[in-house]
Amino acid sequence: MNLILLGAPGAGKGTQAEFICEKFKIPAVSTGNILRAAVKDGTEMGLKAKSFMDAGALVPDEVIIGILKDRLAEPDCANGFILDGVPRTIAQAEAIERMGIRIDKVLELSVPDEVIEQRMSGRRVCEKCGATYHIQSKRSKVEGVCDACGGKLMIRKDDEPATVRDRLAAYHAQTEPLVEFYKERGVLTVIESQPTIEANTRLVMAALEA
Ligand code: AMP
Repeated sequence: MNLILLGAPGAGKGTQAEFICEKFKIPAVSTGNILRAAVKDGTEMGLKAKSFMDAGALVPDEVIIGILKDRLAEPDCANGFILDGVPRTIAQAEAIERMGIRIDKVLELSVPDEVIEQRMSGRRVCEKCGATYHIQSKRSKVEGVCDACGGKLMIRKDDEPATVRDRLAAYHAQTEPLVEFYKERGVLTVIESQPTIEANTRLVMAALEA
């Protein structure tokens, strides 16, 4: 099963991707995580991407398309994958089609902007493996320490309120048109935001099993 999770930053794509990975035994591909690792390692790609990321802007399509081509060619993606945070523009979606990749389902996690802004202030991310937590809704077992790898939990630089507003603006202008793009292709399901992670997961799983 080849899936896409669409939704604003902080909509819960990464969290739901973890549940889907576990249940369907397919990898999650997050261009955000790949880019953050590249920035941390100081690679050429990371240096190119950093200024866009810090400003809450999208990284140029050609960089993202290159990353995606390489990642989807890896053997663990052969039986399916979940795209988390990609595509984010029509050009990226068209590039996926040109690669000859079939998309079976697209789930849009629809969350009002005010809820996003509240949520983002409590988000924490593991500096080592990229796993995400929330100080209220998704706590780690030991405060400040990643359950998965023991890494230190940090606030993402681009989760500061002003940057979050820029990222939401980028989402509405550049990514939201993908909702219509995938609706036209008959693969879209909209998941309206629920008060708890578990309630969202139930709707996500129901949509995948339908
Ligand atoms: P994320 O972790 O998905 O919220 O991504 C963090 C940042 O990485 C974004 O704000 C963008 O600057 C960049 N990024 C990640 N994925 C993409 C993408 N598909 N297209 C453009 N920029 C991206």
